[in-house]
Amino acid sequence: AAKKLGRNRWQFYHGAMNEETRERLRIEGALRNALERGEFVLHYQPQVDLASGHIVGMEALLRWRHPELGVVPPQRFIGLAEETGLIVPIGAWVLRTACAQARAWNTMREADGLAPLRVAVNLSARQFAQPDLVASIAAVLDGTGLPAACLDLELTESLFVDDVAQAVDLLHALKALGVALSIDDFGTGYSSFSYLRTFPIDVLKIDRSFVADIASDADEAAIVVSIIALARNLKLRVIAEGVESTAQLDFLRAHGCDEMQGYHFSRPVPAEEFERMIRSGHACAPEQEPEPLPLS
Ligand code: C2E
Ligand code: MG
Ligand code: MG
Ligand code: MG
Repeated sequence: AAKKLGRNRWQFYHGAMNEETRERLRIEGALRNALERGEFVLHYQPQVDLASGHIVGMEALLRWRHPELGVVPPQRFIGLAEETGLIVPIGAWVLRTACAQARAWNTMREADGLAPLRVAVNLSARQFAQPDLVASIAAVLDGTGLPAACLDLELTESLFVDDVAQAVDLLHALKALGVALSIDDFGTGYSSFSYLRTFPIDVLKIDRSFVADIASDADEAAIVVSIIALARNLKLRVIAEGVESTAQLDFLRAHGCDEMQGYHFSRPVPAEEFERMIRSGHACAPEQEPEPLPLS
């Protein structure tokens, strides 16, 4: 009986694995053609300065619209794109598109006497390992005309574990371009304080798992307060991710967090919608300071 059960179990797992493999192959096949078929779009989520209430930048977030699969969320395809290497051309497209868009919005803003926006782009481990990364980013800045100071590159802590010396060199080379380097999902990864002095970082993005309970959980609150203090002492910009409520917003503002990003202010939205959002922020005479956007 045991043998029979074992066999059934094997068949069960085997069947499940086939199902999973089929699904994976389906997505992988579709992913291979997605770029040339123009199925990717970028959505933009505003980053808001907590002191002024102004939108000061946006994170570009990738969306894949497949005719049959529908909108596939990044969690379902970024990993696969990493494994297959497809993230390299896709990431290059993201960078070009985001920089061109930011340049266009900043040209529009300049005409209205408004400060330029920064755009944040996520970099994957695979892109980070490309020998021509620095040159390709320089080429995108050059080609789009976006000043390097307007680009934030978002990296995760996991990128720093492999070869520390090589990562340090690469980050210095990126910084030499004039771009800012952000640590995304700060606090969830490798999180050794030593890397904060080893790596030339400009921005900490507090992971939303810490932000979620700041208004109700004393331990979470203490962690976030400490990260903000750490960032201030190291002269880093600090952005809170995943801000969903007024209570979280008030807490972050009271503790001196620089910027926030989250559904409370806006979800990531298509470019046209983002453009309406930034236009409505200066519905006043161009020589005047725009009204701060309401935060609640
Ligand atoms: P991330 O870089 O940490 O991006 C933030 C994620 O949190 C986004 O999910 C965003 O929609 C979500 N988010 C923002 N505010 C809130 C909030 O208030 N509440 C909640 N619950 N979620 C919020 P999204 O767009 O699904 O992206 C997931 C991840 O996929 C990103 O995490 C990033 O790691 C990756 N990703 C997205 N676009 C790209 C890309 O162009 N290249 C690469 N390499 N990775 C990307
Ligand atoms: Mg990010
Ligand atoms: Mg993040
Ligand atoms: Mg996150």
